[in-house]
Amino acid sequence: MYAAIAAARHGASVILVDKSLVGRGGATVMAQMTVAAAIGQQEPDDWTIHLADTIRAGRGLCNEELTALLCQEGPKRIFEMEQWGTRWARENGHIKQETAPGHSRRRCCYVDFLNTGPAVAATLRRKVDEISEIRRISNVTIIEVVTQDGRALGAVGLNLMDSEIVSFQAKAVILAAGGLTKLYARNSASANMGGEAYALALWAGAELVDMEFVQFFPIGHLAPRLVGMDPIMWDPFRYKLGGKLLNGRFEEFVDRYGGTDFGQYTATRDLASYSILKEAEAGRGSPHGGAYLDFRHIPEVQLRTAFGPVIDRLLRNGIDLTKMPVEVGPMAHYHMGGVRVNTDMETTIRGLYAAGEAVGGASGANRLSGNAITEAFVFGERAGTSAAGEAKAMKVKWQPRLVELVVQRLKALRIGRSKGSVTPAALQAELQNLMWEKTGPFRTGAKLAAALARIQQMQRDELQNVSVTEETSYNLDLQEWFELRAMLMTAEAVVRSALARKESRGAHQREDFPEADSNFLKNQVLALKGDDLVARWMPPVHLKSGEQNNG
Ligand SMILES: Cc1cc2nc3c(=O)[nH]c(=O)nc-3n(C[C@H](O)[C@H](O)[C@H](O)COP(=O)(O)OP(=O)(O)OC[C@H]3O[C@@H](n4cnc5c(N)ncnc54)[C@H](O)[C@@H]3O)c2cc1C
Repeated sequence: MYAAIAAARHGASVILVDKSLVGRGGATVMAQMTVAAAIGQQEPDDWTIHLADTIRAGRGLCNEELTALLCQEGPKRIFEMEQWGTRWARENGHIKQETAPGHSRRRCCYVDFLNTGPAVAATLRRKVDEISEIRRISNVTIIEVVTQDGRALGAVGLNLMDSEIVSFQAKAVILAAGGLTKLYARNSASANMGGEAYALALWAGAELVDMEFVQFFPIGHLAPRLVGMDPIMWDPFRYKLGGKLLNGRFEEFVDRYGGTDFGQYTATRDLASYSILKEAEAGRGSPHGGAYLDFRHIPEVQLRTAFGPVIDRLLRNGIDLTKMPVEVGPMAHYHMGGVRVNTDMETTIRGLYAAGEAVGGASGANRLSGNAITEAFVFGERAGTSAAGEAKAMKVKWQPRLVELVVQRLKALRIGRSKGSVTPAALQAELQNLMWEKTGPFRTGAKLAAALARIQQMQRDELQNVSVTEETSYNLDLQEWFELRAMLMTAEAVVRSALARKESRGAHQREDFPEADSNFLKNQVLALKGDDLVARWMPPVHLKSGEQNNG
């Protein structure tokens, strides 16, 4: 939405296509916590300090030009969002900012009581609504980008309403289809995050970078069922209140793995994930394979003050924190890798851009909390501005023949019409379990190789033979088939990259290579050559000395 607004402001006529309702799908509406930007309202801060913190977290692998953009332009976007109507929480006349792990300053802005993502999405929806140059199209899944001679000229989609393939003529295309956490059985994501942007980029001839770096959040909500609330909401309360982390026998356990947090939660995210998974493996997990997070030792008044109206929302979900613990565990949460772009957000394919979580590189091997929404704002604005400039200058003529070729090819795909019992959704579920079990927070070469073999088998033998109904209206099977096709492509990219990185760094932890290895202080780039994914290594992009102080 930010990209669309920026493109329209720079004179472009924009079509904003979403596979669900525009502005209501994806991660942004679910993200309830904070947005990081060095606006220095709470204490002195500067974008260069934010940059240093982000680079430190990225363990040597950030594309520092992108990171610098994120940190330098973040403040502008926060104030712009405020002008457009986002009510950032305020205190004594200034925007209130909190700290979060890894940030050396209080720089995380929020909208009160877990409302950040819904509030920013609402602001952007309103803004998009006001701009007549933006046409919104919902319920269309983009399934291919149209290219010719290394240039993007449009896209092709599947209309959920009538199962027809529709084409879009465009002088520039922006991929803003979010992350990939739906690849994992345990994820904090919404239904639409199957990593389709990455597959679309590969099929269009663009490159991906750092696909092995999937961020796992240690204490995502597992049970009881939580409706309409952020599954990663527990973190700030855990810090504030000292929530206890207990195994299935109600014992504190993080000390068994080198932690020191009795009552006062101090374990880092990777240690917390590791200890929870190892306890579960040893048969001491909570019933859903995680751990208990317990606040029962905290007086109710204190809980009410800290949780505010959230405590009543929890009660409506049947969760009374004064009487019961909740079950939590690691889950896939964010993707640091993604489409390789330059600082104009352009891929190696002319006229093809990426924005938001779809972009790889700004966070290197690990992301600081709060940086992802900033990334969606900053990279969205940048991509929209660049794409509008490209569209204005574009001289190549639209050729209907090109689209016809893509449509014919898509129609010729052997989409499963068998009457068997395996649906695309069932195969998606198998893929999710496979990814969780074999390529989750702690990986080994053997598990990764097994995952790759199974993914290739699904691509080769099963994708074409799943059962898809012939319904023409609202045929979810068909939409899920295309989603599965993209999920398998993206899963292959993650697994291949994880196999090749024989070290542990940031979010990529290999039990067979538990240490970081300076020989791997490089980024991994993937591209499709024919049907094969081909990898190359590249030195990380560092800022030239002095560049950090230009702003
Ligand atoms: C539960 C949760 C909590 C989070 N909390 C925070 C937080 O507190 N702070 C923070 O900084 N970050 C947080 N994040 C991460 C952050 O929300 C995301 O990185 C960011 O919002 C991504 O924005 P985006 O615009 O790139 O993608 P999204 O908001 O995911 O939007 C992608 C859109 O693309 C659509 N789409 C997908 N595939 C297709 C296709 N093939 N064709 C057409 N449309 C398609 C989707 O329907 C969706 O509308 C959180 C994430 C989650 C899941």
